[in-house]
Amino acid sequence: MIINNSLDEVKKRENALSIIKDIVETRGRSSLFDLTGLSGGFIASPSELSLLETYVGPAIFEDALQEVGIEHMGGEKIIPLNRTSSGILATILTLVNEGSNVVHYLAQLPAHPSIPRSCKLVGANYSETDDFNEFSIPDNTSLVVITGSTMDHKVIDEDEFKQVIEMAHERDIPVMVDDASGARLRTVIFNQEKACDLGADIAITSTDKLMPGPRGGLMAGRKDLIDEIKVKVNQFGLEAQPPAVLAMLNGIKNFSEDNLIDSFVRKEELFDLLNANFDNFQKTPTGVMISPEGLSREIDIEHGLSDNDLAFVFSFILLRDYGIITIPPVSMPGASATIRFDLSTADAFKLKLNDLNKKIESSFKKLQEVVSNEDECREIVFSF
Ligand SMILES: *Cc1c(COP(=O)(O)O)cnc(C)c1O
Repeated sequence: MIINNSLDEVKKRENALSIIKDIVETRGRSSLFDLTGLSGGFIASPSELSLLETYVGPAIFEDALQEVGIEHMGGEKIIPLNRTSSGILATILTLVNEGSNVVHYLAQLPAHPSIPRSCKLVGANYSETDDFNEFSIPDNTSLVVITGSTMDHKVIDEDEFKQVIEMAHERDIPVMVDDASGARLRTVIFNQEKACDLGADIAITSTDKLMPGPRGGLMAGRKDLIDEIKVKVNQFGLEAQPPAVLAMLNGIKNFSEDNLIDSFVRKEELFDLLNANFDNFQKTPTGVMISPEGLSREIDIEHGLSDNDLAFVFSFILLRDYGIITIPPVSMPGASATIRFDLSTADAFKLKLNDLNKKIESSFKKLQEVVSNEDECREIVFSF
């Protein structure tokens, strides 16, 4: 095994960032292709930047974000957060008591790790399911969680979404929606309603997923709950700082539905190209992906690596040899090791799909060459 624990994940991330830095310094930013779908960005004018003072910044930009954020998310009030995970933590700290139950329905396991981790922190009993028929709300439940679109971009069925909200509200239990990518994916590609319009009490999105914003979280929902949660957010320093708030504001304003819709079409072409050589790629709404298990099935050489290790080695080869950034090399501990090629962000439009297909193919050949040599694989992941 190459990646065994969170420390290993932090170390592989440091290595990935060194590789990215080296590519930028030696070949320039244009030699990198960020296909994570989280390429973020920081759109700001000089006059806006000059207002980024500790108290002036929030006075101007948080106020503007209320309006733009509510338009994007629905709900009555907005809180900008450091990350989606921060919003999930703050909501659970506020609404969930020790010993109570938290139940979570999502289209496909696993949930984002911040949800079970936050429940553990407050001593709640957490359970999750992706089988709608199995979903039920036990007595002593303090919070119902719904994920709008999973880390692998599996989108919930809207009828099930509504039914879970109804089940919770019949018993006066608040509903928190983890809509990290879903706030855009569900609404633009699947024509679903905003989570708050479907009745969610709290919804949180990630401002760098499928939009040109910074890493950050944007929470919307019922004013009474938002006010309570905001206390925890401020007490524990989970709020977004003025620079991030400014970039969130401009990120939302510059969000293009057309890019998402174009990628919806382009992914079909990439999928067909890849299928000439692979059997285990799957479509996502805005690109293609291969799971660690799928990748493992593609390999026809003896080796001692875990499925996740294979995904890390493969994604590091894509980064090192072709400057293609996917999530596994740069992710935070506990994130999914599925390799997603998202076609909705700016860099993806600079790549010809034929070329991308060839780069994926030759990186895979390289993976087959090194896979039986664990030391070499370890070096690819950890030491640049
Ligand atoms: C990305 C993601 C998160 C966490 O977002 P951060 O900004 O990294 O905290 C939570 N839930 C889902 C479904 C995600 O895809």
